[in-house]
Amino acid sequence: MFDNLSDKLDNALHVLKGHGQITEINVAETLKEVRRALVDADVNYKIAKEFTSIVKEKALGQDVLTALKPGQLMVKLVKDELTQLMGGEAADINLSGTPSIILMSGLQGSGKTTFSGKLANFLKNKKGKKPLLVACDIYRPAAINQLQVVGEQVGVEVYSEEGNQDPVAISNNAIAHAKENGHNVVIIDTAGRLAVDEAMMTEISNIHKAIQPHETLFVVDSMTGQDAVNTAKTFNERLNFDGVILTKLDGDTRGGAAISIKSVVNKPIKFIGTGEKMDAIDIFYPSRMADRILG
Ligand code: GDP
Repeated sequence: MFDNLSDKLDNALHVLKGHGQITEINVAETLKEVRRALVDADVNYKIAKEFTSIVKEKALGQDVLTALKPGQLMVKLVKDELTQLMGGEAADINLSGTPSIILMSGLQGSGKTTFSGKLANFLKNKKGKKPLLVACDIYRPAAINQLQVVGEQVGVEVYSEEGNQDPVAISNNAIAHAKENGHNVVIIDTAGRLAVDEAMMTEISNIHKAIQPHETLFVVDSMTGQDAVNTAKTFNERLNFDGVILTKLDGDTRGGAAISIKSVVNKPIKFIGTGEKMDAIDIFYPSRMADRILG
C-alpha cells in the first residue's frame, strides 16, 4: 500500500497530528516502522533496536508533529543517523607506499578476484597508478587463470608462480618484481574457502605478518546477510583489516549488511561492487547507502 518508509511514517504520524507536542508513544510507534524497514533491509535486529532507541532520544527533542511532513522529518533524522553510523564520509584507501601493498581477504565466492581486477582498473584509470595483480591462490589453478583473464581485461600485469606452494614467498617475490618494474601498487589476491577455516586464517595471517600491507581489505558478499557479519568479525579478529568491500549490491539486497558490519567491526566500508564487469565499482558513500536502505 505504501511505496516507501517516508510514506509509512507520514501516515503513522498523520493520525497523531493535532496532539501538539510529540509524545514518547507516538515516536515509539513510528520507530517500530523504521525498525521493520531496517530488519527488512537485512540489518541485524539487535543493531536495529539500538539504533532506533538513539533516534528516539533525538526525535523527542524535536517538534516533529508540527512539521508539514512529519514523516519526512523523521526519515531525515533516521537518514542522518544512519549515515553517521556508517562512517559519515567516504573513506580513502592508503596509497602512500612505494609500492602501496593491498592485501585482499575474504571467503571464496565473495568476489575477491573480480574486485581485485576492478580495483586495479580504478587505480589505473582514475588515479594514474601502475598496479600489479598477484595471484596467491596456490590451491586452485582456475583461480590463477581467472585473475589472468581479469588482468587482460583491464590491461594490468598479473604476477604468478606456477608450482610455488608458498604464498608468502610468492608475495615477497611479487613485491620485488613490482619495485624492479615501476609498479606503484601491488594488489594481492589470496585463497579463500567456502567457509571460515583455520588453515585459511593461518595462511592469510602469515602473509599479512610477512608483507605488512598498507591496506588490508575484506571482501564480502552483501547478499549473505547475517553470515556476512560473522565472517567479517572472524577476519577482523585475525587481520585487523582496514576496510570492507561490499560486493553484489546490484542484487536485490537493500544492503543492510553495511550497517551491521560497520557496527560490529567498526571499520569503514570503502568500495562497493555493483556488477560482474570491470567498471562495476563505486566508492562507498554512507548517505547514498542510507537512502537505499530506507527505500
Ligand atoms: P572469489 O572466489 O572471492 O575470488 O570470487 P569471484 O571474484 O570469483 O566472484 C564470484 C562470482 O561472483 C563470480 O561469478 C563473479 O562474476 C561474481 N561477482 C563478483 N562481484 C560481483 C558483483 O559486484 N556483482 C555481481 N552480480 N556479481 C559479482
